[in-house]
Amino acid sequence: MRKKIVAGNWKMNLNKAEALDLAKALNDADFDMAKVDVLLFSPSVYFDALSGLNLNRAKLGAQNFYPAEKGAFTGEIALRHLTDLKIQNVLVGHSERRILFGENHDFLRQKVNAALQSGMRVFFCCGEPENVRDADAQNDYVEKQLRDSLLHLSADQLNHIVIAYEPVWAIGTGKTASNEQANTMHGFIRDLIRTTHGDSSAEAMQILYGGSCNPTNAQGLFEASDIDGGLIGGASLNVSDFSSIIAAAR
Ligand code: PEP
Repeated sequence: MRKKIVAGNWKMNLNKAEALDLAKALNDADFDMAKVDVLLFSPSVYFDALSGLNLNRAKLGAQNFYPAEKGAFTGEIALRHLTDLKIQNVLVGHSERRILFGENHDFLRQKVNAALQSGMRVFFCCGEPENVRDADAQNDYVEKQLRDSLLHLSADQLNHIVIAYEPVWAIGTGKTASNEQANTMHGFIRDLIRTTHGDSSAEAMQILYGGSCNPTNAQGLFEASDIDGGLIGGASLNVSDFSSIIAAAR
């Protein structure tokens, strides 16, 4: 039985006081940690302050890093900076990084490799844009994203990966994939892993859905057989909405 995960992606939102308030409120929220792991992908500048809260119900994760050990990369965050701050989870392949910052398949593969070498758990995002969905070509599109940047890993390395299926047309748009659309893609991803890495890797892989997930649609999505939780953007910025989504993961 795969454990559910609900992860908030705060993106470039919240100020320090808001971030701390939200994390504190979440620490007191009523959810069963045996059934769901909760993560907060916070802006990196707040990790120290958030760690100072001794959060015992949510783990922290980084939205970004640069895949070199150190050096002349002005403005970038190294994995060793994250490990210094006891951060053990990173996002890779979010569509905003692919589209707005030009992160391509090769670079994402480098990020995945570097993160695993640093002992991180990688949340690898994939998902098709709207024109690809309209042409019913989403399976080929997502398969290429996974083959180009992720599926070169060994079965052991895949144990440190969580996949987030995030159709680009659903991110921040209020348009959610239907339970069936999402579950069909999750099943496709699981079957792809079965082909490349075998049954046990496929069955163990936690595959999250992301894209306008909210307190109203979360339960239906999370009850689908191949959906193991959610990566939540907008609704993770509000403690009441985020807590309801966490409560829907059982
Ligand atoms: C995201 O950006 O990862 C995301 C899922 O955003 P939203 O929930 O706002 O669609």
